[in-house]
Amino acid sequence: LADEQMTDAEILADPVEKIAAVGGTRHPGIPLPKDLFGPERKNSEGIDLNDRAILAKVAHQVSFVPSEVEGRSRGRISTSLDTNDEGGVAQGFVARALSAYPAWEAAGVDHRAACLDRLADLLEQERDALMRIAVQEAKKTIPDALGEVREAVDFCRYYAQQARDHLQPLELPGPTGERNLLRMEGRGAWVCIAPWNFPLAIFLGQVAAALVTGNTVVAKPAPQTPEIAAYAVGLAHSAGIPEDALVLAIGGPEMGAALTADPRIAGVAFTGSTATAKRIARTLLEDEDRPIVPLIAETGGINAMIVDSTALPEQVVQDVVTSAFRSAGQRCSALRLLVLQEEIADRTLEMLAGAMDTLVVGDPADPRTDVGPVIDQGAYDRLMTYRETQGDRWIKTVDAPRDGLFVPPTAIRLDAIEDLKREWFGPILHVTTWKAGQLEDTIRRVNRSGFGLTMGLHSRIARSADDVEQLARVGNLYVNRSMIGAIVGSQPFGGEGLSGTGPKAGGPHYLPRFCAERVTSTDT
Ligand code: GLU
Repeated sequence: LADEQMTDAEILADPVEKIAAVGGTRHPGIPLPKDLFGPERKNSEGIDLNDRAILAKVAHQVSFVPSEVEGRSRGRISTSLDTNDEGGVAQGFVARALSAYPAWEAAGVDHRAACLDRLADLLEQERDALMRIAVQEAKKTIPDALGEVREAVDFCRYYAQQARDHLQPLELPGPTGERNLLRMEGRGAWVCIAPWNFPLAIFLGQVAAALVTGNTVVAKPAPQTPEIAAYAVGLAHSAGIPEDALVLAIGGPEMGAALTADPRIAGVAFTGSTATAKRIARTLLEDEDRPIVPLIAETGGINAMIVDSTALPEQVVQDVVTSAFRSAGQRCSALRLLVLQEEIADRTLEMLAGAMDTLVVGDPADPRTDVGPVIDQGAYDRLMTYRETQGDRWIKTVDAPRDGLFVPPTAIRLDAIEDLKREWFGPILHVTTWKAGQLEDTIRRVNRSGFGLTMGLHSRIARSADDVEQLARVGNLYVNRSMIGAIVGSQPFGGEGLSGTGPKAGGPHYLPRFCAERVTSTDT
């Protein structure tokens, strides 16, 4: 995932206006049809979601306290964050989360899990409104917006159940007659930093995991997607999570830096770029006196799909198109490098070109759209510049509207696996070949990128699947299917190496990463 581009000075200059501007200046060229979700949408409190001024007020109520922002100049806000002074906005957020920690921890796991279940219910009730914001603010296509809400609901319900089942105090053997009790407890105030590409699902997934384990949270959404986060935090408070147990911190890199620099925090859950994850790790270790706290990081990948000559060509092409171009390629899991066995390369690419021609690129609010715009001008410029420089290597590109941030889905030929040196976070697919009999070598060369998030294999040779399973150094391996859309509870998601610290979101071992494990041994 690319680094955030906006600075806090820009974001904090006027958060009310910024949130109100959603659908306006920040999203030129993507007018939402008024009747997408009915002419008049009201949320559970009777607020008309088509009214931007009211929406901004709602968002504002659950985000910045107006007095903390109004009247400050850009420079002043930016300075207070840069220097971490006592009165800094970030420190205020951490102080609030810390003050709520003892009571939230003492409320017990069943109470906290019940809050998550209620939040899941509210998310379902508010589904259309959340989808609308996801389309408007994050430029999600309608199927992606629906998937976003579903995944957020799944995270809440799954972590609630996991917590009830596995976080209860555990009586352990006492061979010498003592009583041993293992407790899984919260560690304190966590900082959760979410990406814009799953601004509801990943945002709430991190938050739900940290909260249900007994921690309180300062949650920083990506600067591109504050509004859906503000809406979700409002719902979380309505579900019974105390306001100071979940504090929303809208800001960019400087806010993130100030929050992670606060020595009082108990841990950081981060999804974003590898560079930012490393910066956070350095910050957490910087100060000699600082406690050692966990960092859970999920970053990007140079994800490859290896295809041999026994694969079903139609299936391969469909899975390649889905994995590389759906969500405009803006998923950490997306396919970046297709590695075809030489014998089938020409035929597969011919079919792929045909399939790419059927992609509809355009307005994300149009239900027919397959590929929407990319997130912002910075992403658009980076991707388009790179694509232009590769012009003589294009295998295929497709038509896209010129008016807006539409990057045409493009396939680019590479001479070797090693030629792809970084993650291009958009609808750009690279293609190269491998020679029969060199599967092991091919996997090892893919591993050598240092990333380890997803890998795909298409083959009908069982032995090849075993080899890939054994040799691939990735968190998620997909065999004879697409490489995106991990399902909570079934396909725990997360990578290793440059792709992250390893814990799998939506998996049975995720919650303990947020806990302090404490044992009491009592002589009886
Ligand atoms: N979990 C998502 C998927 O399986 C990707 C998450 C991400 O992009 O960070 O497609």
